[in-house]
Amino acid sequence: SIGLVAQTDQPLTQDQLLERADYALYNAKAHHRGTAVLFSTEHESAIRIQILTEQQLRQVDFASEMTVQFQPIVDVGRNKIVAYEALARWQSPVLGSVKPIHFIPAAERMGLINQLTEVLFAKALAALKTWPDEIDLSFNLSVRDIASGDLLARLAQMLETTGVSAKRIIFEITETALMHDFEQGRDRLLGLKALGAKIALDDFGTGYSSLHYVHRLPLDKIKIDREFVAGVATDQASRDIVRSILDLCRNLKITCVVEGVETAEQVIVLRSLGCTTMQGYFFGGAVSNVALVHTSGASEWAAAPVRLKGRPVSA
Ligand code: C2E
Ligand code: CA
Ligand code: CA
Repeated sequence: SIGLVAQTDQPLTQDQLLERADYALYNAKAHHRGTAVLFSTEHESAIRIQILTEQQLRQVDFASEMTVQFQPIVDVGRNKIVAYEALARWQSPVLGSVKPIHFIPAAERMGLINQLTEVLFAKALAALKTWPDEIDLSFNLSVRDIASGDLLARLAQMLETTGVSAKRIIFEITETALMHDFEQGRDRLLGLKALGAKIALDDFGTGYSSLHYVHRLPLDKIKIDREFVAGVATDQASRDIVRSILDLCRNLKITCVVEGVETAEQVIVLRSLGCTTMQGYFFGGAVSNVALVHTSGASEWAAAPVRLKGRPVSA
């Protein structure tokens, strides 16, 4: 991978040039491995967002500015919501609404992620306590969360003090979270499982997935990345990939969740491939807990707060 920068009309200093070439290199490694990437105006504005985000994060009061929204995960066979995924939201008084793809990596770089995760988990648990018992919470952990034994111990402690059963928690992790120290990562996951929690492998198919690697992890679920779902109704290759992952899950006896389901057509195709657990805008985006809770009966739950289409969708 190569990062390049071109000198412009407003000459850049040696440091600035190096910084930009380095950014382009980083970008090449992350998104276009094995190619040359030229530093562009888009990179420039991405850096600006990054700097602003970091400045604001330094003075943020997590508890008041960060909130959690919840997106339903649905069993289409039973037409029921089985869990909600907690998704972090930041309304900054200075920057306005900042996307998690910007502030989560920034918090990771700045060493603030553990603190943030703890605040988000507390908020998510408080929400879960208002849900029917059969609805679980799916919660994202970042690389540095898995690496921190202290953080994981605090999360366990929080489950105990709030009286929430760990059986209702699914921790979502990505493969990159385990890449640099597989043995330690695996032990940490086993620790979470020992509490009774479940583990889901997020964004499956986008990273360096190796089957060998997947079967050595104590996984309960695999979440197929929405990249494959986008093409599932129109593209044979996407369908084949989804079908192979579903086969893999069946063989490993783990649940498969398909992410990013946006249309009825996709639901029908996915069902015909044997997939029953889905998530995506078709069923509803992420909303605040207050917006979820306007019915109390568990049976009505599936129908009321999110747009579960009137009739069950079948293949
Ligand atoms: P993710 O874990 O893969 O979360 C799913 C993302 O897809 C969410 O974006 C969600 O709003 C979006 N999404 C859901 N359904 C659809 C759909 O049908 N179509 C499309 N196009 N998108 C859909 P969001 O909330 O912007 O989060 C982005 C990423 O930021 C998450 O990806 C996750 O990696 C990270 N993130 C969010 N909240 C947290 C958190 O509390 N902790 C950590 N560590 N990461 C988080
Ligand atoms: Ca996730
Ligand atoms: Ca995902």
